[in-house]
Amino acid sequence: MAKPKYSSPKGIKDILAPESGARRALLDLFSQEAWLAGYGEIVLPMFEEVGVFSRVGESTEIVQKQMYDFYDKDERHIVLRPESTASVMRAFIEHRPTLPWKCWYEGAHFRYEKPQAGRFRQFHQVGIELLGAEDPVADAEVIALGWGFLNKAGAKIKLLINSLGDAASREKYVAELGKYLESHLSDLSDSAKTTLKLNPLRVLDSKIPTDMKVTSEAPEMKKFLSTQDTDHFQEVCENLKNLGIEYELAPRLVRGLDYYTRTAFEYVSVDLDIAHDALGGGGRYDGLSESLGGPECVGVGFAIGIDRTLLAIKEKISSEIATKSLDVFIADLVGDSALMIAMELRSVGISTDYSFGRRSLKAQMKQADRSGAQVALIIGEEELEKDSVSLVELRKSEGEMREKSEQDLILRSELTSEIRKYLNK
Ligand code: AMP
Repeated sequence: MAKPKYSSPKGIKDILAPESGARRALLDLFSQEAWLAGYGEIVLPMFEEVGVFSRVGESTEIVQKQMYDFYDKDERHIVLRPESTASVMRAFIEHRPTLPWKCWYEGAHFRYEKPQAGRFRQFHQVGIELLGAEDPVADAEVIALGWGFLNKAGAKIKLLINSLGDAASREKYVAELGKYLESHLSDLSDSAKTTLKLNPLRVLDSKIPTDMKVTSEAPEMKKFLSTQDTDHFQEVCENLKNLGIEYELAPRLVRGLDYYTRTAFEYVSVDLDIAHDALGGGGRYDGLSESLGGPECVGVGFAIGIDRTLLAIKEKISSEIATKSLDVFIADLVGDSALMIAMELRSVGISTDYSFGRRSLKAQMKQADRSGAQVALIIGEEELEKDSVSLVELRKSEGEMREKSEQDLILRSELTSEIRKYLNK
């Protein structure tokens, strides 16, 4: 094939069927889980004024280097959303829904990253936010929802959890951490040295092996937590235990944005490479509303990456799609009734396709096989005379091809009910 004149922008990929089918199944599963837990969907803008994001992560890579920003025709400084928690908070401040407020979202997000496995410039996130509840049960509910979703999706995950304390205890910790990192400056990467000047906490997030060696010995947040923070964290853990959710304490876990307080957590795939093994994560962000000019309002939430989750469950995707394959393919040799029959079957929930142009039986049956359909319906002169169609079973239930000798003649008037019976629908 000749090289196309245009291709998708760097770091962004088109997603075609059948891959898009597994993705859609994941999105449906997520909306179902969120609905079951009383979360309502919020549909957010794809872009916001720069201030929505810049104030919540000035020392982070996301805000410093990865924002897709531009000036619109009215000279407004606009950013394609790199995440959605800040947008949700902006929407809360604007609309003031009754608290506690539980919402979920899904959509494309944008970060100008170096494209590599599991890291794209446009990626899809799903997430929930629970605003207005300080109760540690809220943290546990949020963590449990993401955990349940990923498990149902078939991902093998570890749950890492930490407490970052409130602003006052974190300030003391950051000072101590800064001193420690300064004393190991020569062992740190250049990017970690730069990050250190902006925010020592962020150095803990580095995935560069030499930095990780230094940070693995760094002081832990635990010792700096206030009694209230410690109690809150213990109750979160207690609730998770009661739910039978296993977790690992990760005393140096920090998140990619600056606004987190108290609980921070991450869902890590055990099947993916360390550079991109985080499927999602979140935490509490008790000061975020105020930093965006809003009222005092606590919150907790998470975001999960759909592209990365799909990578983590790659092995299981084919069976997922197999259950969603086409029901019926019509091979019309006479050439005038395929669309009508297809519409009839589709209207009762039987997925149906057919080929265009009057092609040979062989060509149409080849297309039927490729389509993944369970059965083919053949309409030839003979069938037309008898006001019938021939049904050919294409697959065994395990998805294998069956001998094509088994062919039944079905009356046109009984077609829908016969196929329903056949497909168990
Ligand atoms: P974050 O908002 O950075 O906590 O990211 C939450 C999740 O979104 C990550 O765990 C990933 O699954 C996904 N994610 C973040 N950035 C990217 C990216 N550049 N490409 C693909 N997925 C991403």
